[in-house]
Amino acid sequence: MRIHLSNGREVEAALLVAADGLRSAIRKRLLPGAEPRYAGYVAWRGMVDEAVLSAPVRERVFPHFVFDLPPHEQLVAYPIAGADNSVAPGRRRFNFVWYRPADERGALRDLLTDAEGRHWPEGIPPPRVRPEVLAAARHAAAEVLSPQCAEVIAKAANLFFQPIFDLESPRLAFGRVALLGDAAFVARPHCGMGVSKAADDASALAEALAGTAPVAEALQDYERRRQPEGTRIVAHARALGAYMQAQLQTAEERAMAERHRSPEAVMRETAMPITPGVAVD
Ligand SMILES: Cc1cc2nc3c(=O)[nH]c(=O)nc-3n(C[C@H](O)[C@H](O)[C@H](O)COP(=O)(O)OP(=O)(O)OC[C@H]3O[C@@H](n4cnc5c(N)ncnc54)[C@H](O)[C@@H]3O)c2cc1C
Repeated sequence: MRIHLSNGREVEAALLVAADGLRSAIRKRLLPGAEPRYAGYVAWRGMVDEAVLSAPVRERVFPHFVFDLPPHEQLVAYPIAGADNSVAPGRRRFNFVWYRPADERGALRDLLTDAEGRHWPEGIPPPRVRPEVLAAARHAAAEVLSPQCAEVIAKAANLFFQPIFDLESPRLAFGRVALLGDAAFVARPHCGMGVSKAADDASALAEALAGTAPVAEALQDYERRRQPEGTRIVAHARALGAYMQAQLQTAEERAMAERHRSPEAVMRETAMPITPGVAVD
């Protein structure tokens, strides 16, 4: 197989693995119909140093995996290591993801437009987000979130957002070309599986190629193992995201929304006690 690179070089290869992410150029050529589909909401993200939190938030909120569930919005927050990878008390950070609906033609377009009026439909670089957009997000946090979570957002130095997409590929093997990781499937972040899914793809591909079958047959084997799994993960994450989805376009979305659209359902489906004897409350 001959591969033509954008810098003009040509490479001879027995196998091409397209692990080039959500906007995969290789997938676009092989599966032009498999485009990322906007989910109807964005995720505001950021981190706060444990040390800058007020004493009540540091003592009563920071140690936990926190859910805040205003209608059709969801915030999850949890402690992570500090900037120097420290897990020592006082040097850790609180990480949050706050999902908010944003209509594709109205609010989303505005969020993705920078100060010079340039629109970034595939995701705006964080430094280009307009200051008034950041100020509006902090203002909304104070209006809709609990005071503890609003404090976390107010103190986040690096507030940024990403639009949430679903991506499914009906095929992963094309002769001696394989799609892998986010190039093949992107699930909404609710199940936190992006990295492990890509690693499982890589491991399944290596196993399929370890046998004596020709490369094209090994890739068919890889596709049989990973395509249904990718479909299942994307569907599960989509169901978990139904709580945020303002516009329900298909019968499947409406059915999922009925099952997943209450705070109780979100907690039942997403949260689980990880310390024996400690209940989710
Ligand atoms: C803000 C954010 C937070 C996330 N948090 C989590 C999390 O907490 N846990 C989790 O499991 N997942 C998380 N994810 C998802 C996770 O990052 C992805 O699922 C994972 O990185 C997919 O790995 P990948 O190797 O398939 O693709 P990527 O990590 O996207 O890697 C693709 C690579 O291909 C390169 N590339 C693209 N085009 C070309 C080209 N034409 N030529 C050469 N190279 C190219 C890119 O530069 C990149 O290095 C998060 C994603 C985002 C955006």
